[in-house]
Amino acid sequence: TGKRAFIAGVADDNGYGWAIAKALAAAGAEILVGTWVPALNIFETSLRRRKFDESWKLPDGSLMEIAKVYPLDAVYDTPEDVPEDVKTNKRYAGASNWTVKEVAETVKNDFGSIDILVHSLANGPEVTKPLLETSRRGYLAAISASSYSFVSLLQHFLPIMNPGGASISLTYIASERIIPGYGGGMSSAKAALESDTRLLAYEAGRKGKIRVNTISAGPLGSRAAKAIGFIEKIIEYSYVNAPLQKELLAVDKTVTSFLLYSESAITYSTAEVGNTAAFLVSPLASAVTGSTIYVDNGLNTMGLAL
Ligand code: NAD
Repeated sequence: TGKRAFIAGVADDNGYGWAIAKALAAAGAEILVGTWVPALNIFETSLRRRKFDESWKLPDGSLMEIAKVYPLDAVYDTPEDVPEDVKTNKRYAGASNWTVKEVAETVKNDFGSIDILVHSLANGPEVTKPLLETSRRGYLAAISASSYSFVSLLQHFLPIMNPGGASISLTYIASERIIPGYGGGMSSAKAALESDTRLLAYEAGRKGKIRVNTISAGPLGSRAAKAIGFIEKIIEYSYVNAPLQKELLAVDKTVTSFLLYSESAITYSTAEVGNTAAFLVSPLASAVTGSTIYVDNGLNTMGLAL
């Protein structure tokens, strides 16, 4: 309650960023979001129509408020880093001040400080390619958008974060176990993100009394995940094989496996990630930092799934 959160990586109501925004709003935080520039128009349209949409409803029946939406491209730190073809791209025309440094400055001018920083973004242009076939360019792009983006956000936001605050990111088990198909260097990017969580916890802890943790989340059919190509299969596997099995609500083998589970079952799992995020950034977790916290119904602990 009374805290202010900046959540980077919200562009629709399907992803983990959205679920975290809702959980933090329900706990009384003021919500600012950073939306990828090319996705900004569509998201702002949904913002205008929000009163018609169930997904904006908080548990108490009120509608989630977003105090401000900031255009953001976390691949660029300063205006000098932006190449000409991006500057002149029509998907970027009309938006301004969207590099990480500028967004942090604008938030400072608008609100003075924040308490909570959430990184819920990833991108890997070659995610469908096996690592063995990934180009240097694709690999570095995955690391830039999915790992360094967190270093950069924390670097630029730390000076305006109130001591006692916290930051979190989202990671995936492919960092430490073989998940065939999570390619393009995305598995490497998540390994970097988890390793950086530890060192950044030390540095930001000492420098600004800020905690840094990452949530290793189970699979979700978000827009980003659909780029992988077989997210339905991964979801089905994780629902069937986790120690805490989720109820099979409808079994219809003629439809895709994704539909084996009701929409509400899927939505519920994002709320579980949101709730864990709310705990991790709250004083209840005041001694938790540098950790990778699994929110996957225990799937990560399985040896052999039979
Ligand atoms: P999502 O599509 O809701 O979120 C990804 C967001 O990143 C999008 O809003 C996109 O616009 C934004 N984005 C991409 N490139 C950007 C850039 N350069 N600058 C700013 N924003 C950018 O999908 P999601 O699956 O909820 O992803 C959120 C996080 O959760 C990611 O880190 C993802 O790797 C992680 N995660 C997802 C799953 C899953 O199965 N979906 C599992 C574990 C972890």
